Amino acid sequence: MSQMNPLLDAVTSRRAALVSLTQELIRIPTLNPPGRHYREICEHLAHRLEKGGFTVKLLRAHGTPGDSETYPRWNLIARHSTGRPGDCVHFNSHHDVVEVGHGWTRDPFGGAVEGDRIYGRGACDMKGGLAASIIAAEAFVATFPDHPGTVEISATADEESGGFGGVAWLAEQGYFAPERVQHVIIPEPLHKDRICLGHRGVWWAEVETHGRIAHGSMPFLGDSAIRHMGAVLTEIEERLYPLLERKKTAMPVVPEGARQSTLNINSIHGGEAEPEAGYTGLPAPCVADRCRIILDRRFLIEEDLAEVKSEIREVLERVKHQRPGFSYEIRDLFEVQPTMADRAAPIVTATAAAIERVLARVAEYVVSPGTYDQKHIDRIGRLKNCIAYGPGLLHLAHQPDEWVGIQDMEDSAKVMALVLQELIAP
Ligand SMILES: [Zn+2]
Repeated sequence: MSQMNPLLDAVTSRRAALVSLTQELIRIPTLNPPGRHYREICEHLAHRLEKGGFTVKLLRAHGTPGDSETYPRWNLIARHSTGRPGDCVHFNSHHDVVEVGHGWTRDPFGGAVEGDRIYGRGACDMKGGLAASIIAAEAFVATFPDHPGTVEISATADEESGGFGGVAWLAEQGYFAPERVQHVIIPEPLHKDRICLGHRGVWWAEVETHGRIAHGSMPFLGDSAIRHMGAVLTEIEERLYPLLERKKTAMPVVPEGARQSTLNINSIHGGEAEPEAGYTGLPAPCVADRCRIILDRRFLIEEDLAEVKSEIREVLERVKHQRPGFSYEIRDLFEVQPTMADRAAPIVTATAAAIERVLARVAEYVVSPGTYDQKHIDRIGRLKNCIAYGPGLLHLAHQPDEWVGIQDMEDSAKVMALVLQELIAP
């Protein structure tokens, strides 16, 4: 059936190219950590985009976390502009993938095609999205060779480890400044009929309780930091969790369970260090003189970070009141403010209209429970007109036998192409 739209036809006719590009990207094992083959994937994309008339830059984020001569943090930015004035529409994808893990029944870096699926680590998160955005851009440029404005594509490092050698670094260099880029789509795997407006906030902290070491046969001569931490955990369990459950958000977070404040106790460690691998002896009998937990608190756009922090302080102060000799330290590790694009923002309305046209259904608006590179575009780049939209099913990300659907990629490439048409067609 003809779609009566040369741009959509241009995407359809590139279906085989979309599949082979996705396979090529999967076959470059850009594992992070430690950050392998970043230069290789950037060069592969640069070669392709240069042939398509894009101006390409390879940028190494020198000195960022993880950057070394062995594992340099390479990023790619490609621009297509005719010099006619207009907005810049930017597609940002991370090119790194997480470790393979156990349980695969296919080659994680083979890019096997079976039916409508392409398998491999990063297929859905997010080499399929990266490939879809490139095909959309190529189809758009071929259909409207003298378009106004700019089509820009970036493939960036380290999203899986915080994005500091990728989008954060590029934003610091001004690549996401509002005078340079006006619209951003991040093709993370949120599914082809969903627009992800933003994410909840994050606060990571380390809490340490103090004690006094003594011989384990005479614990009354010491003071156990682990027992102190037990009291902290009881207080969190009995008072804080019920409080967090009552804090609901108007943000359309998916899955539903994340539509409230959440707290994960990421790790706990007390007393003697874990023995080295291969040690076959017994532990030494000691009273633990310190115990540490790492807290991962996810907060809502309706909450204030200072309040979020003071809830934990209150827990600790209450315990201090109850327990003689109790002392603690709390250390901030990491924080990200929640962000959410306006539903009336141009990138949101253009994407919603395109979804309706391609899929004949109304777009669903969602918010991500965890953060992704939008945080850096929002905070460092000061750009609010940014969403995540791309093919793939989020629950497959980081799983064994990860795959992306070919029809889903084609459909979302059509949506992205129509967004370009809406925002910068002649
Ligand atoms: Zn991702």
